[in-house]
Parts: sequence; structure tokens; C-alpha cells
Amino acid sequence: MRLSRAFIPILKETPKEAEIVSHRLMLRAGMIRQQAAGIYSWLPLGMTVLENIGNIVREEQNRAGAQEILMPTIQPSDLWRESGRYDAYGPEMLRIMDRHEREMLYGPTNEEMVTDIFRTHVRSYRALPMNLYHIQWKFRDEVRPRFGVMRGREFLMKDAYSFDLDEESARHAYQRMFVAYLRTFARLGLTAIPMRADTGPIGGNLSHEFIILASTGESEVFCHRDLLEKPVPSPDTDFWSDLTPIVDDWTSLYAATDEMHDVAAFEAIPEEKRVAARGIEVGHIFYFGTKYSAPMGAKVAGLDGVERPVHMGSYGIGVSRLVGAVIEACHDEAGIIWPDSIAPYQVAILNLKPGDAATDAMVDRLEKGFEAAGKTVLVDDTDQRPGAKFAGMDLIGIPWQVIVGPRGAADGSVEIKRRATGARETLPESGAIAYITEGNAA
Ligand code: ATP
Ligand code: MG
Repeated sequence: MRLSRAFIPILKETPKEAEIVSHRLMLRAGMIRQQAAGIYSWLPLGMTVLENIGNIVREEQNRAGAQEILMPTIQPSDLWRESGRYDAYGPEMLRIMDRHEREMLYGPTNEEMVTDIFRTHVRSYRALPMNLYHIQWKFRDEVRPRFGVMRGREFLMKDAYSFDLDEESARHAYQRMFVAYLRTFARLGLTAIPMRADTGPIGGNLSHEFIILASTGESEVFCHRDLLEKPVPSPDTDFWSDLTPIVDDWTSLYAATDEMHDVAAFEAIPEEKRVAARGIEVGHIFYFGTKYSAPMGAKVAGLDGVERPVHMGSYGIGVSRLVGAVIEACHDEAGIIWPDSIAPYQVAILNLKPGDAATDAMVDRLEKGFEAAGKTVLVDDTDQRPGAKFAGMDLIGIPWQVIVGPRGAADGSVEIKRRATGARETLPESGAIAYITEGNAA
């Protein structure tokens, strides 16, 4: 993609309405446009990152045995009356009337609808375990939408729902999602810590929020420092083996949100290992048993032929919130620093002298070479000053910058800059592609 043709409306001024750095940088980098409080359009750069995050989430859900579906955003109110939540949900639910005066709503979540799908088609334990997920927009009329996409009213969520015959197998389903989440967040370049979370009126201990530490986070959290360094399970983890040892290893170290905080247990940790910080909730997993299946009549027959309500769990990831959360974790004064895995482009080529035949030719060769090597490339072919080009690329945060000017074009060399570290290296043109594709990440 050529920057001269790309729609990346960079803002020179820092927007006043943005309270936190990720919101400021998303606006300045031309990623989003606010349309109403907590409601955003996603412009090309933002859209690409949103999609890249969604794809990693999808790959890890599939790896853990979940199957993708797509449920609508608009739901009939009947299902929510069956579960008893239509009245209980309160003003966060956006209620809509259609032309036939039927009560509809914009889904804030999908437990009822997925339970309806399940009860229509599944009757026997033979279909289990089953986990269905989708990546779909939600609407919650938050009292205080703020921090850009981090607390929006319309937001993109991955929500998965597991169905099992009994509590024991539901626990395995929960563990598969627990491990999938560890892998997902690590691939997004984040250290997300599973913390004991409130299970509300259902009780039990099967609820974890996945939290990344950030001073701008809305939650107060407490954990053991070793959790920040823990390597995540490998891609060849067998999700159908017993995952208890992995989950126990993670949950044996103290980590809790403030609602679940146990001061005595925390103070039993050596002082230098205690972390009390603020965090951003990027995911939440939850076992809730038969809360929806019992009132909605979603039953399965077991080996004994007796029908019982199916045991369920739900597993959310804030896909659009993650765009902001990653920026909170990965930026400096100059702008965003995208992790390679989700960057809107993997390589930026800065043409310092468009119109100079040798420089243009080298830029073209490099662009084609990187694309042939499977990299996505943004070429700055505009006639801005070099200083403005450097600042622009630092702002939008492409992980690798390849700088091409007339001097390099004459002697066959390019300069390569790693955005994350600022490290610069001058290389012969012929070595540039291998240098980056072999991941000389510092
Ligand atoms: P919070 O405590 O932040 O309000 P929640 O507990 O209500 O979130 P869940 O119902 O657990 O949220 O939703 C799953 C995930 O969806 C959350 O972990 C979060 O990442 C994301 N999410 C929830 N609300 C919003 C929002 N208003 N804007 C963006 N993402 C959200
Ligand atoms: Mg939550």
C-alpha cells in the first residue's frame, strides 16, 4: 500500500477529549472516528488491527476445539423473558421496538440465544462436549463510556459457550478455555494474568478475569510477581489431555481482583513478590452450571437415558477493547509500538526522495521483495519532509522501518530501524529482506 493512496487521517494536534494515551494515539493515528458517545467507526488502520486480533483469537479458539458460529446482534425479548433476565438486566440493555411492536434488543451477550440453539438441536450426551463461539458486536448502554474503545457502548466481543453433561466435564471445558486464553494474549504481545474473579450469586471458584497491568486500568488487582514471567503453554498442548496440572500451576500463585482480594493470603507472599497494581480486564471466563439451561429447558440425556439440564460456561474476550489495551501496554512518547503479530503493516518503507529514479526503483524492488516474502508493506511515497515521515511512522507504530534515500540508492544500502528499540542497522539492499523475515527482533 502506498501512503499517498491510503486513508490514514493522521491528526497533528492531540485531541483534547482523550483522557488516556491509547485513546489519544488511536485518534492521532487515524484509526477510529467517534460517532456518538462510546460508538466508533473503524478506519482502515484500526480495522486491520481489529481483524488481526480477531484472527488470533479465532485460531486459538479453534485449536481448543471451539466451533465458530455467528449469532445476530438483534435478539427477540422472548428468550430473555424465559431466563428471567429481560427485567433484571436494567438500563444497560438497549431495547428496540420493531414495526409490529415486538420487543427486540441489541444483544449485550448471548447466553439465552446460544442456549436456544442448543436445546433445538442437541438431546444426547453423544454430542458433548460442545463449545460454540462467535465474534460479534455487542451493545451495553454503559453509564460512563470512556477511554475510547476500552469502554465503549458498542464493542466487539468474542464470546464462547460450553455445554457439558456434568460439572466434572464442564471443568475440563473451562480448563481448555483457560489455556487457550493464556496462549491468545501471549500471541497478542500481552502479559495477561488470570485472576480469581467474583462468580456472583452462583458461587464456586470457577471464574477468572484475565487482566493486563496498566496504570490506566479500571480494576484494582493483586498478584504474585512470578506470574508476570511465567511462560505460557506451547502450541502443541493437547487440549484433550488433562489440563489440570497447567491450570493448577497458574492458579496456585496468588492473583485476585479487588472483589476477591484476601489480604491475609496476599500478605503471606514475600514483600518483594507482591504486586498491587491497576489492571485492564481483557477476558473473563465463567462456569455457571445450569443457570440458563434449567429455566430454558436445555436438557441432555446421559448414559442412563435420564435427561438433565446441560452444564454451561461462558468465555468472553474484549476484541475491540484489546486494540486500546495493547496500545496502553506498547507505546512510547513517539507513538504506538505494534507487536509484530497484529501490526496493521509489518514493514514500512520510507522513500526519502520520491521522484529520484534510483531511490524509487530501490523502493519498488524492496516492496515487491517483502510482499513476496509474505509481509504486508506500507510505502511512504509522499513528498513530506523526512522528519515528518519519521514522526508519522513512529506514531502509527509499524514494527520495522526501512529507510531508503538517494545516498543509499547510489551505494546499494538501506537503513533498517526496529520501532520497539530504536535500534538502527545499515545493510546492503540484498540483505534487508532476510534480516527482517528472519526476525532480528531485539
Ligand atoms: P467490565 O467489568 O469491564 O464492565 P464485564 O465484566 O461487564 O466488563 P464481560 O461481560 O465479562 O464484561 O465481557 C467480556 C469482555 O468484554 C470483558 O472482559 C471485556 O474485555 C469486554 N468488555 C466488556 N464491556 C466492554 C465495554 N463496555 N467496552 C469494551 N469492551 C468491553
Ligand atoms: Mg467481566
